[in-house]
Amino acid sequence: MYIPYGRQAIDNNDIQAVIDVLKSDYLTTGPKITEFEKRVADYVGAKYAVAVNSGTAALHIACLAAGIKEGDEVITSPITFAASSNCVLYCGGTPIFADIDAETYNIAPEEIEKKLTDKTKAVIPVHYTGQPCDMDRIWAIAKKHNLTVIEDAAHALGASYKGKMIGSQSDMTCFSFHPVKPITTGEGGMVVTNDEELYKRLVLFRSHGITRDEELMTENQGGWYYQQLELGYNYRITDISCALGCSQMDKLDFFLEKRRTIARRYDQAFAGIEGIITPKQIEECESGWHLYMIQVDNRKEVFDKLREAGIGVNVHYIPVYQHPYYQRNGYDECCCENAEKFYARAISLPIFPGLTEEQQQYVIDKIVEIMTV
Ligand SMILES: *Cc1c(COP(=O)(O)O)cnc(C)c1O
Repeated sequence: MYIPYGRQAIDNNDIQAVIDVLKSDYLTTGPKITEFEKRVADYVGAKYAVAVNSGTAALHIACLAAGIKEGDEVITSPITFAASSNCVLYCGGTPIFADIDAETYNIAPEEIEKKLTDKTKAVIPVHYTGQPCDMDRIWAIAKKHNLTVIEDAAHALGASYKGKMIGSQSDMTCFSFHPVKPITTGEGGMVVTNDEELYKRLVLFRSHGITRDEELMTENQGGWYYQQLELGYNYRITDISCALGCSQMDKLDFFLEKRRTIARRYDQAFAGIEGIITPKQIEECESGWHLYMIQVDNRKEVFDKLREAGIGVNVHYIPVYQHPYYQRNGYDECCCENAEKFYARAISLPIFPGLTEEQQQYVIDKIVEIMTV
């Protein structure tokens, strides 16, 4: 037996949706893309959405649309996947890491304030594990210092902050549809925004910076004509992926309910076990529960024993600045104390819609056994 930490949930409707596209006229740049964009935009309560071929591409075009360039600083969390800061490097900017809150593991607003300089242009809060960041304080800091807010919501499709969906309020919010994420398109991502100007720039950067839009072009020489206005990329997603995305959206609420049930069960099972810290949830928010993290003193021992028992535990994440690439490129003095303490003790447990009660009980029993001998 092997129980992974995360896994996609695919049913016959998903399979049929993909087959239907394969038999249709458009494999890419067709109607399924706009349909999927509208589904997600409507769900999260955003005006505009731009689907791309990865969450990383979403973060990259969001930084480009925000105008991040050489000399600009962008503040993000060290406890995240490297894409949250790599997107700043792609634009020639400098990622600055602000420490996490020791209890929520999300970027701490007071740490963001400490890292502000006159070069700071944007902040990328990461809703780590699916739990929303302290957005009221982050928006207040951004407003005061004129910063663009780009939410990395790769873990948080379907999460809500004080009654509003994640994706409805910041300048831009980025989602990922990698198979372990809340819904999947194989590979895929999306940026949502309420700002028409940002939307137009996101569309440009998705496809080479090329447009046929007369309002954007400097002239029009005829029906064949188009112009490249920016240096964009080919970050287009296929209709095959978006058909899967639409079909997955039908099940998002069901997936979220499954994840929340699993999280509650872990909470209850570990409540009385000494030496296990379970994830604290802030009030007035609903997590998407992409990850369920526990903290233990003897992390390596517990991790190794769980892996030996066929449980695909993981560690999310190594503080980004500790990676050799970052160490070689000016981050060797970087230190976020709470992030490093958390990293030393963290284990991510299996949580995904298809995890059965029996499988979860097996995971719980193993952990309790290891922690109580
Ligand atoms: C998965 C993830 C990304 C990148 O998404 P991809 O679709 O894999 O490119 C970015 N940020 C975070 C926090 C992620 O977990």
